[in-house]
Amino acid sequence: MTTRIRMLVSLFAVTALMCGSLARAADFPSKPITIIVPFSAGGPTDTVARLLGQAMGADLKQTMLVENVAGAGGTVGAGRAARSDPDGHTLFLHHIGMSTAPALYRKLPYNPIEDFAPIGLVTDVPMTIVARGNFPAKDLKELIAYVKENKAKVTYANAGLGAASHLCGMLFMTAIDTDLTTVPYKGTGPAMNDLLGGKVDFMCDQTTNTTGQIKAGKIKVYTVTSKKRVPSLPDVPTASEAGLPNFEVGIWHGLWAPKGTPKPVVDRLVAALKVALKDATLKQRFADLGTEPVADNLATPDALQAHLKAQTAVWAPIIKKAGAFAD
Ligand code: ASP
Repeated sequence: MTTRIRMLVSLFAVTALMCGSLARAADFPSKPITIIVPFSAGGPTDTVARLLGQAMGADLKQTMLVENVAGAGGTVGAGRAARSDPDGHTLFLHHIGMSTAPALYRKLPYNPIEDFAPIGLVTDVPMTIVARGNFPAKDLKELIAYVKENKAKVTYANAGLGAASHLCGMLFMTAIDTDLTTVPYKGTGPAMNDLLGGKVDFMCDQTTNTTGQIKAGKIKVYTVTSKKRVPSLPDVPTASEAGLPNFEVGIWHGLWAPKGTPKPVVDRLVAALKVALKDATLKQRFADLGTEPVADNLATPDALQAHLKAQTAVWAPIIKKAGAFAD
C-alpha cells in the first residue's frame, strides 16, 4: 500500500469510528438503561438509585432498571460495572466506598479513578446510629458505656468492608477506643431486617434506610452524623450534641458509566442527571428520607472526579491508621 492509500484508509477508519459514535449518541438511549447498585435491594443505595432512575428515565424517555450486584462491601458490583459495555446503557450508582476501597483492599479488580467515566455527584446522605428496639441504652452516652462494658457480646451490623456502614462503624470504634464484633451483610437492607428481628444489636446507616423505621418507632436512634440536625428527624441530636464531638460522616453518592463511554452519551446522561435532581418528586422523596440533591454545579463529571480523588486522599491515611484491610 502506498503512503497515500494508507493515509486514506486510516482517515476513513477514523471518520467511520466518529460517525459510529455520533450515531450511537444520536439514538441513545436505544434500550432500557440498567443502573448497577453494589448492595442488596431494599437498602439505602438501592433507594437512591431507584428514585434517581425514575426521574432520569422520564427525561431520557427510557425505562431505567436497577440491578443489585452485591458483595464484598460494594467491590463486586464496582468490578462488574467497570467491565460493562461502555455504551451508556449500563450505569453505576455508588457512594463514598469508591474512595475507601483502594485503601481497604490489597487486590481491587478495578481502579475507581481510571476505569470509569464519571457522570456527576448525586446526593450527600447523613448517617444515623441505630439499635434494635429493645436495646438497653436510651441515649448515645449510655450506648457508648454499654458497648464498652459488653464489648465481647455486642454485635455491630454492616454491609461489608468498604461499605458506608463499615466506615462509620470503624470511625465509631476508633472514637470510643473499643473493638466490637461486626456482622457483615450484602447490604444494610438485610442488616435492617436482622436489626428489626433483634438478631444484631446496632449499626450506623444512611437516613435513606433508617428514617422509616425510626419514625415507626421500630428501632432506637441515638444520633445523626451530620454537623446539623436533619430536618426530617428534628428530635435526633447531632453527635456533638449527644456527647461525641467531631464525629461527622456524610455519605456522598455518585453516578458513573464505564470508561470509554462516548462523550456525547456522557453529555446526555449529565443533562438527564441535572434534570432529575431538580425533579419535584425526587426532591420530596429525598427530603422525606433526610437528604437533598447536590447543587447543580456538582452534578458534573469534573466535580465527581475531583471529589473522588480528594476523598481517596483523605481516607487512605485514616484507614491505614485504623488497620482495616482485606486481601
Ligand atoms: N448502606 C450500605 C452501606 O453501608 C449499603 C446499602 O445497602 O446500600 O454502604
